[in-house]
Amino acid sequence: MGAIKYYSTNRNIIESGFKPFKGTVSFKEALMIGQAPDAGLFMPERIPNISKGDLEDLRGNRYFEVAHFILDKFLYGDIDSDYLLKLCKEAYNFKVPIEKVNDRKYILRLDQGPTASFKDFAARMMARLMGALKDENKDLNILVATSGDTGSAVGEAFKGVNGINVFILYPEKEVSGRQKKQLDTIGENVTTLSINGKFDDCQNLVKMAFQDKDLSDLNLTSANSINIGRILPQMVYYFYSYLEKSEEGESVVFSVPSGNFGNSLGCEFSRRMGLPVSKIIMAVNENDEFPNYLNSGKYQKLSPSKPCISSAMNVGHPSNLARFFELYGGTVDKSGKVHKYPDLKKMQSKLFSIAISDQMTKDAIKSIYEKHNVILEPHGAVGWAGLEKYLHENGDYSPCISLETAHPAKFPEEIKLLLGFEPELPESMKDVDKRQGEPIRLENDYIQLKNFLICSLENK
Ligand SMILES: *Cc1c(COP(=O)(O)O)cnc(C)c1O
Repeated sequence: MGAIKYYSTNRNIIESGFKPFKGTVSFKEALMIGQAPDAGLFMPERIPNISKGDLEDLRGNRYFEVAHFILDKFLYGDIDSDYLLKLCKEAYNFKVPIEKVNDRKYILRLDQGPTASFKDFAARMMARLMGALKDENKDLNILVATSGDTGSAVGEAFKGVNGINVFILYPEKEVSGRQKKQLDTIGENVTTLSINGKFDDCQNLVKMAFQDKDLSDLNLTSANSINIGRILPQMVYYFYSYLEKSEEGESVVFSVPSGNFGNSLGCEFSRRMGLPVSKIIMAVNENDEFPNYLNSGKYQKLSPSKPCISSAMNVGHPSNLARFFELYGGTVDKSGKVHKYPDLKKMQSKLFSIAISDQMTKDAIKSIYEKHNVILEPHGAVGWAGLEKYLHENGDYSPCISLETAHPAKFPEEIKLLLGFEPELPESMKDVDKRQGEPIRLENDYIQLKNFLICSLENK
């Protein structure tokens, strides 16, 4: 079988004036352009299979070895297998602890990467794949606007990757002191631009740069969160934790704190590859459009989204819903319009979704600490509370694995309020306040940005 091709989730939309993209692209193209020409999301035309025997053979492997095995199935024919192993080893050089709560219920801690967020897992691999697949004799220049956390995850991920330069724009007055420190001190091939303006201004400046024909020689690209290169690495920890905590023949319940559904999509892809998953719990905060859909069969996006303490999950229309609909035979576009409904019964049999209020989130943080001495931050607590609800409604089940997506030390005020102490910083962030680095300061002025980019890239 040849390399896997990628098609657009919008390819079947019939609407006057709309030009669906009916073709397919290679993994490399999908990675570089991020989004299909018709604004759909790229999907693999087949999902490779992993046999029971191969799965059993993986037991006892280290994280980067599991990553290599799984990603190689998808990238076979696109990237040399030995080289992929080297990239996996480089990307996954930190711990992936699985903490026991009680019986056979576990917390999978995805908070030990350089920015203490689960986004490190995807961003670090995507950065290396881009580095490996880009044109050899031309630098790739990545431009991102950030309001805080995504920028540092992306910046840290690309740090030291050969032939790629990263420029991160952030609003000078809208990031916290610690976020600013994290951004300004990445260094090497990552430049931070502190903009005298708002997050929207940063986004506009980036948009103008992408549209500017004068800059077309600069090979500018984005590191979009809907990139298929960020989805594939998010399968690996489901396999890894399954291998660590299950016996042969068992199936697992996973609970995933969800916003744009990229993380839970990694679980769905894993299940379709052959990982024995009996249910995927997609736990959301008060943005309850998806659980409402699973209950009623009618989808209605939330606009605007509701502000909750699990702020990275304040999403009123999850971008990766288009991929879930696609996998179950439906089509929804990025505006939230449903063109064809998926097979609801099938979806209900594999997926469970529940909305967890801020109050329930806080209660969960307190009770899991008091009962089991486990510290969770608000996102992970939504996942845990969702799992408890599921088990309460459906009867006990084990093993169960609930994901923690950020380190509690990133939420010191909230934790202090609820538990009475500030959690210790993780290893990767211990020295953050002492790091040195200064941003380039720019006005909210496109000409300034343009001149800066031209000057700094012409000297490369
Ligand atoms: C991004 C994020 C999420 C949501 O993940 P999705 O893939 O968008 O569903 C959850 N928790 C944290 C801490 C995040 O940063």
